[in-house]
Amino acid sequence: MATSAELIEVSERRSAHNYHPLPVVIHEAHGAWVTDVEGHRYLDCLSGYSSLNFGHGHPKIIEAAQEQLKNLTLTSRAFYHDQFAQFCMGLGDLTGKDMILPMNTGAEAVETAIKVARKWGYEVKGIEPDQANIIVMEGNFHGRTTTIVSFSTDPDAHDNFGPYTPGFRLVPYGSAEAIRRAVDANTVAVLFEPIQGEAGVLVPPDGYLSDIRALCSAKGILMIADEVQSGLGRTGKTFACDHEGVVPDIYVLGKALGGGVVPVSAIAADREVLGVIKPGQHGSTFGGNPLACAVGNAVIELLNTGQYQARAAKLGEVLHTRLRELIGHGVVEVRGRGLWAGIDIDPAVATGREVSKALLKRGVLAKDTHGSTIRLAPPITVSEEDLGWAIDQLLDAVYELKTR
Ligand SMILES: *Cc1c(COP(=O)(O)O)cnc(C)c1O
Repeated sequence: MATSAELIEVSERRSAHNYHPLPVVIHEAHGAWVTDVEGHRYLDCLSGYSSLNFGHGHPKIIEAAQEQLKNLTLTSRAFYHDQFAQFCMGLGDLTGKDMILPMNTGAEAVETAIKVARKWGYEVKGIEPDQANIIVMEGNFHGRTTTIVSFSTDPDAHDNFGPYTPGFRLVPYGSAEAIRRAVDANTVAVLFEPIQGEAGVLVPPDGYLSDIRALCSAKGILMIADEVQSGLGRTGKTFACDHEGVVPDIYVLGKALGGGVVPVSAIAADREVLGVIKPGQHGSTFGGNPLACAVGNAVIELLNTGQYQARAAKLGEVLHTRLRELIGHGVVEVRGRGLWAGIDIDPAVATGREVSKALLKRGVLAKDTHGSTIRLAPPITVSEEDLGWAIDQLLDAVYELKTR
């Protein structure tokens, strides 16, 4: 087998540089641990940006996928298949919504929510053609399509990809008052992340979600929660909105819905909203395919036990208690909820990338975001002992960089 160095050299030479990977070449993974081509082991504390909430190769998910591979992998939505009904019913029950529209990636699900909200605005609210606006948040991350990057405030994501899609109004994240001021007669929806993941695991002030809910209900506009990263157990509840007992009009789901096996995304909404989509008006060749549905069904079954949500809550307490000790010792701030943390490294001590590299050397996979924030999101299946060990490595890494 080729060495890591050789594989990295070819990967860098022959692929677009749209990522800046850490220098590790992963060969296999089980549970929370991955092994590189030279046989070194690492604890995965990124989990595919929360796509691997149930760990690598969860036996129930792999079994469902293997079973489905033998039977049927693709039909297109031109026909029904025998995994589809269960997927829509299961995800509908999990979200408490009437209907599901399955897609593949998170960005496609966000696009779907935007299209549904606009169509609903014109056909149900009676907004004049092409006048609909959607309120979005500064610091948002909703994916990489041209429409979505049109309202990104991250220069890397946004700049030089114009002309941009109109119809979005940016307001500061965390202020329901700012949303209220931005709403006008043509507003059809508020699109937000209940916790901003890519921005550095930013948790909004208490009451923000319920204030958005109240505002949307009062004004007759759709509350769209992008739970692609925050949803499906990560925060200690099924959805991050559950922490305030809030139910959005549209859930946007992805990442962990595919069990770390295949891309699976969906939106969930009630009939008054999702019913605006008629045959031919939206779709996807692969959305809702049999393999995706079988994997999604296994994921939903795991979530229905409630044990992953409870475990994320319990391990999250351990994680946040330990991380708080780091504040003032090379760490400026720690945020997060459940088994999910954003750790701001003191720029005087090190960059986020330097900390990520120091962690890699110590056998922990983590990635910086926005220069100085380290995001920790291990699989929910991680053992408490391994989690404690990973935090020890972070302590060690930051201490070493501080005293170099
Ligand atoms: C990752 C992410 C997306 C985009 O998902 P892709 O599958 O990468 O298209 C959208 N919204 C949020 C909140 C995300 O974290």
